[in-house]
Amino acid sequence: MTAHVKPKALENFKARDFRMLIDGVWTEGAGPALERVAPGHGIVVSRYPAGTKADAERAIAAARKAFDHGPWPTMTGAERSNILLKAADLIAARADELAFLDCIESGKPISQAKGELGGAADIWRYAAALARDLHGESYNTLGEGTLGVVLREAIGVVSIITPWNFPFLIVSQKLPFALAAGCTTVVKPSELTSGSTLVLGEILIEAGVPAGVVNILTGTGPEVGAPMTTHPDVDMISFTGSTGVGRLTMANAAQTLKKVSLELGGKNPQIVFPDANLDEFIDAAVFGAYFNAGECCNAGSRLILHKSIAAEVTARIADLASKVKVGDPLDPTTQLGAIITPQHLEKIGTFVIDAAKAGASVALGGEALDLGLGQFMAPTILSGVLPDMAVAREEVFGPVLSVLTFETTEEAIRIANAIDYGLSASVWSRDFDTCLTIGRKVRAGTVWMNTFMDGASELPFGGYRQSGLGRELGRHAVEDYTETKTLNMHMGARTGWWMPR
Ligand code: NAD
Repeated sequence: MTAHVKPKALENFKARDFRMLIDGVWTEGAGPALERVAPGHGIVVSRYPAGTKADAERAIAAARKAFDHGPWPTMTGAERSNILLKAADLIAARADELAFLDCIESGKPISQAKGELGGAADIWRYAAALARDLHGESYNTLGEGTLGVVLREAIGVVSIITPWNFPFLIVSQKLPFALAAGCTTVVKPSELTSGSTLVLGEILIEAGVPAGVVNILTGTGPEVGAPMTTHPDVDMISFTGSTGVGRLTMANAAQTLKKVSLELGGKNPQIVFPDANLDEFIDAAVFGAYFNAGECCNAGSRLILHKSIAAEVTARIADLASKVKVGDPLDPTTQLGAIITPQHLEKIGTFVIDAAKAGASVALGGEALDLGLGQFMAPTILSGVLPDMAVAREEVFGPVLSVLTFETTEEAIRIANAIDYGLSASVWSRDFDTCLTIGRKVRAGTVWMNTFMDGASELPFGGYRQSGLGRELGRHAVEDYTETKTLNMHMGARTGWWMPR
C-alpha cells in the first residue's frame, strides 16, 4: 500500500542515493538502481546500485589483495583494536542518522532502532578488546628439544551476508570480529535495508580501515550474494538469514569447502509454569511476540502454558497486546511498526487463515491494519494451537503469537523440542529445579530463565539444529574467524628416523 499522505516527519525528506564500496572507491552500479519503498511510509527512501556478479568478483579480488599483500592482517592487535574503537566512537556519534535509516528502511520503531545502535556500538568496543587478546598455545611438555606452538591466524577473505530485520546490529555481530582477527571482507546487506551498512563503510574509512579490507556490495541475493558463496578466493562465509538460503549457502560453500557460520531461523518456545511471576511473564510475552513486529529470529512466538493457567494468562496477554501502540515507525511512542513488504504481510495473513482452518482460534487481531501509511499488521494471538500445526512449527516472522498447552514437565519439553529449530527458549517458574531441568533439556542455543531476549556482547548467541552453525559474540567470537596453525619445532640433534646416526 502506498502512503495516503506524506508523514510529517518526512515532509522535506529526499530519497538518498547510495553507492557500493569496492577497493576503497564508492562505485555506481551498471544498471538501474534498486528502489527501497519505506514499509511504514509508502515512499521511496533509498536507492542502491543493483550489484552484479562482476561487482562481486571485483570486491572479492580487492579483499584477496588486501589480505595477501595489505597491512591489515599483519598489524598488531593493538593497532587494529584502536581502529575498531574509533569506529565505535563514530557509530555512536552518527547513531541518530543510522537509526533513522534502519527505521525508515525496515519499518521498525525509531525508539527500538536507537536502542539497537547503542548495542551495536558496544559490540564494536567488545571486539576491539578481543583484538588485543587473540592468542594461541604453547607446549613445552613434548620432550627435550621439542616445542609446540599453536598459532591463531586470520582465516582470510570472509563473505558476510546479512538480513533486513536488524540491519546495523547484525553486521555488527560479524564484521568487527572478522576485522579484529585480521581478516578482509566482502559485505552484502539485504537489498531491502542496505543504507546503514553503507554509512558504516564511510565510518570505517574515517576510522582508518585500509582500502579493500571492507568492501560493501548492494544488490539481490542470487545476483551478488551467490558469487560470494562460491568464489574460490573466499575462505569463509558468515551468513544470517532464512534457513532455506542458509542451506543453499552451505551447499555452495561445499564446492570449495569453505568454513561456514550460519545464524538462521527460530520458533522459540516460552514455557510457563503455574508458580511463575505472571505479571513479569505477561509483559515479557507481549514484548517477545511484538518486538520488531515479530520479524525476529528470537521472537517468543510459541507460548507453552500450563493448562491450569492457560485461559487466564491468554486473556491477560490479549488485554495487554490490545494496548500495544501500532503506528508510524518514526513516532517515538510507537511500539509496533510496519511489516517489511506487502508480500510478507500477505504471507503472515495466510499463516493466520491456515491456522484457523486447522482449528486454532483467533483470540486477538488476525488482520492487516490500514493506517494510511505503509503495511501494518494487528498484534495477533492464536489460541488452541496444536504442536503439529504449521503455525506452531514454522517461522511466521510477524506479530503472531501461538498459544499451546501442557500438563507435565516432560510434555512441555517434548513440545518445545518437536520442531526443526533450536535458537532460543525461555522458562518461567519460581522453582529452581524446574528452571534448570528445562534449561538442560530444551535443545536451544540460549535458554532464558524468568526473562526474555536479554543479551550482552559477552554472551555467545546461535542455534542448535536448523537454527544454524557456530556462535557469534562472546569471548571466542574472534576465534571463529581464524585458522589454527601448528608449529612443531625441534632443537638440537635427533636420534634419527630411518637412518641410524
Ligand atoms: P534471506 O535468507 O531471504 O536473506 C538473507 C540475506 O541473504 C540477504 O542479504 C539476501 O539478499 C541474501 N541472499 C538471498 N538469496 C541468496 C543467495 N542465493 N545467495 C547468497 N545470498 C542470498 O533472509 P531475510 O528474509 O533477509 O531475513 C529473515 C530471516 O533471517 C529469518 O529467517 C530470520 O529468522 C533470520 N535471522 C536469523 C538471525 C539469527 O541470528 N539466527 C537473526 C536475524 C534474522
